[in-house]
Amino acid sequence: MNIHEYQAKELLAKYGVGIPAGIPALTVEEAVAAAKQLPGPLYVVKAQIHAGGRGKGKFKELGPDAKGGVRLAKSIEEVEAFAKEMLGNTLVTIQTGEAGKQVNRLYVTDGVDIDKEYYLSMLVDRATGRLAMVVSTEGGMDIEEVAHSTPEKITTITIDPAEGFKPHHGRAVAFALKLTGDLNKQAQKLAGQLYEAFVAMDCDMLEINPLVESKGGELLVLDTKMSFDSNALFRHPDIFALRDETEEDPAEIEASKYDLAYIKLDGDIGCMVNGAGLAMATMDIIKLNGSFPANFLDVGGGANKEKVTAAFKIILKDPNVKGILVNIFGGIMKCDVIAEGIVAAAKDVNLSVPLVVRLEGTNVQQGKDILANSGLPIVAANDLGDAAQKIVAEVKKAA
Ligand code: ADP
Ligand code: MG
Repeated sequence: MNIHEYQAKELLAKYGVGIPAGIPALTVEEAVAAAKQLPGPLYVVKAQIHAGGRGKGKFKELGPDAKGGVRLAKSIEEVEAFAKEMLGNTLVTIQTGEAGKQVNRLYVTDGVDIDKEYYLSMLVDRATGRLAMVVSTEGGMDIEEVAHSTPEKITTITIDPAEGFKPHHGRAVAFALKLTGDLNKQAQKLAGQLYEAFVAMDCDMLEINPLVESKGGELLVLDTKMSFDSNALFRHPDIFALRDETEEDPAEIEASKYDLAYIKLDGDIGCMVNGAGLAMATMDIIKLNGSFPANFLDVGGGANKEKVTAAFKIILKDPNVKGILVNIFGGIMKCDVIAEGIVAAAKDVNLSVPLVVRLEGTNVQQGKDILANSGLPIVAANDLGDAAQKIVAEVKKAA
């Protein structure tokens, strides 16, 4: 689960991290009132969307010459003007895709006089089974370019969670950032605070870009992105309450109600599979046969009729879907039960696109018989390769 910048900053502030003052706003009036509470004379008005690259983004409605979603204002009047420009409009950044995201919230924050911008992020590094802190002296809006052309300017420090954060980790972070004197001390302290926050809140990613050295000699977090391990959210109702569903894909929200793991993709073959590994393999083999999956969908172990029906409905809501491939292994759930679910669901949703079904596992023959005797134009497949070839061919034939 992702949250907004202002929410992440409020959470980090509780761990002692240095954050410039700021106030969220949903309307132009609130933005003005927020600015009045800040010391000024410099303010920054920031679009709050679940995507980065806002500074270099463009508003669809404002034309190519307009500025992006992070604006430096020199007066309250400018805060008001920028808030008017941003609210309700659609910001397109390298991370939003072409559709962009509508800006419904702003964050009005203190303008900081910046001496230098740094980069610092934390993530769970599955390769080493440790937490990693990734730091660079080259922070700011071009970090992707730095990673691409000068990767040696990025340092990774790993921390064994069994050992926990030790002072030498803090020193390594401060050293990699080439900081000396008091700033070096601040960086060590910050690294420890971030580690504590990351673990305590079950984060899976925390990115600070930029972390800045202010003209006053303070290390401050100017931008941060934070995401949480969804499997641990039950332990953090306060964090779960920060979820902003308007930032999420409606089909993905609907899927989560039925405990279906669904992620929309750009292709035209809808997939309904049980098990994430099998779902990945199914997507791969569709690509191998020359088409593209319209989604990732894992219906999970207990795929009953209700879940299968919900899954069909979610897949079919996507206007790009020209055919569906069902690939289910009947282990816990027997194939005949799944077949009954598929038949009932297909009738229920008035299925109008080709459907190829591959079943394997317990009671597979009974399952296949149910599909064959259903009177529905379901194409049965024998194995994964056969299933992929058949659905690709069916979709081409229908086109
Ligand atoms: P994004 O990463 O989405 O583009 P940022 O919050 O990182 O958004 O803002 C982009 C740039 O704007 C930063 O790299 C920084 O140079 C500048 N900036 C952001 N917040 C402030 C602030 N409070 N004071 C001064 N400059 C800021
Ligand atoms: Mg940033």
